[in-house]
Amino acid sequence: MKDTSQYVTPIKLLEELGIFDPREILLEAIAEHCGATIIYEPLEGCEARIIGFHERAIITVDNRASRPRQRFSGAHELGHWLRDRGKVAFACTEKAFFTEWSQDNPEQRANRFAADLLLPEFMFCLRAAQREVTFSTVQDLANQFETSLTATAIRLVEHGSFPAMVVCNDMGKRRWFIRGPSLPASLWPRDTPGSGTVAYDLLRGQAWNKGPLDVYADQWFQYPNAKRHGVREDSVRIAPHTVLTLLWWKDERPLIELDELDERE
Ligand SMILES: [Zn+2]
Repeated sequence: MKDTSQYVTPIKLLEELGIFDPREILLEAIAEHCGATIIYEPLEGCEARIIGFHERAIITVDNRASRPRQRFSGAHELGHWLRDRGKVAFACTEKAFFTEWSQDNPEQRANRFAADLLLPEFMFCLRAAQREVTFSTVQDLANQFETSLTATAIRLVEHGSFPAMVVCNDMGKRRWFIRGPSLPASLWPRDTPGSGTVAYDLLRGQAWNKGPLDVYADQWFQYPNAKRHGVREDSVRIAPHTVLTLLWWKDERPLIELDELDERE
């Protein structure tokens, strides 16, 4: 019996293979090293799937997706494999890749694995240090790592130099959000962004991506004094009804105020 507690982490894998540069993260070769072969062909009803038994697995990735999406899907399936080696069968839909970022479940863990493998912290932090929290930065990093905007934006919020959050709205409602480590835990975005946000216009198909814009914090959050605070918003449409938003506190004073408020309660 294999001891599943000895599950291989992405960082161990990269070390084992002597990979230190984003250009060396060759997903197919890494998967082979783990006993999984990645093949590309059209898939119906899912973006990627894996079937594995004993020491071998076959990962199939939809060949019609963009290359960053294919890489992420492949790495996600590899994550399922390394967790449940021996016997595994998953078919993962687009929903699993786009919405399962906040709950703790096998899909979320596979997404985390993919992010840690394709955007390893030790390579990412170096390149993200002191960079503005905008989609222009995200795009540049995504090009270097050959990863999707969503995965790269999450990474920037979690490992960048400034306080920030990424929020995903779908059909007008919040799907998920990820808070940067320095943000107060009481900070929750509203269920729907206010009409004074770029995301609001994008969700209604009314505007083009405008680039970063300063908006009132109460358009995104409900906390005392939010009306008086600002936050820098950068929103992009990533699918016909899905908008991804970066919120960046260039001025950190509201966060300090909020921390004090939380402590008093
Ligand atoms: Zn999955």
